[in-house]
Amino acid sequence: MLAVSLAVAYVPTLLGLSAAPALARMQPDDRTVVDGLVFGALLFLFADFMSLTANLGVGAADLIWRGALLASFAGGLVVFAGLERLGGAAPARLAVWWAVGVGLHSLAEGIVVGHNLTLGLAQALRPLAVLSFVLHKVVEGLSVAVLMARGQRTGLPLQVMLASVAALPLAAGALLGAVRLAGAASSIFYALGAGSVAFILPAFAASRSRHPAAWTAAGAAGFLFVAVAALLHEL
Ligand SMILES: [Zn+2]
Repeated sequence: MLAVSLAVAYVPTLLGLSAAPALARMQPDDRTVVDGLVFGALLFLFADFMSLTANLGVGAADLIWRGALLASFAGGLVVFAGLERLGGAAPARLAVWWAVGVGLHSLAEGIVVGHNLTLGLAQALRPLAVLSFVLHKVVEGLSVAVLMARGQRTGLPLQVMLASVAALPLAAGALLGAVRLAGAASSIFYALGAGSVAFILPAFAASRSRHPAAWTAAGAAGFLFVAVAALLHEL
């Protein structure tokens, strides 16, 4: 379980993060394009998280459950806004906060992965499903790398640390999922994770005004890339 989690989550996240030094050397104009790409990709993931939040166990009549999910979403937003306010909005810090947000969402994914693994290894580890998962993890790592590059703090120790914060919760979630922790728990963490995406999205939109057309084109490309990756999962 641990080996699978490391292979499908930690390694691709670190791979995405390892782009940080190269991103840090880029011209601001080129970075606007990368911002757009990441914004588009995260926008798709945001929509995906929201649907995962809504689909797992929400009964229309169950107001308490619905309230818990809404509170988790709002909590995700508010907690990260609070962290930014208390800890400072320096880009390097923002990379840390965002890694924590990805970690919350990884915990939710882990619970689902753990469930799936108990249902059968062959089904859970279909090559296209794994590829799809790995690609989206690279994108998550890349999104953290963009913020690291902005702060010009891109050392390998920080890469390893932030990859751990972002991806290791998946292993913990997988263990919880394997022991059949209620799937409802993953909905709560998806909602928290979606709240953290709502918090971070504007950070990737800030540079839009510099090159609106390039940013928008890159955004559409990023959105499509992750959408196609997600489609692989369904095949
Ligand atoms: Zn994810």
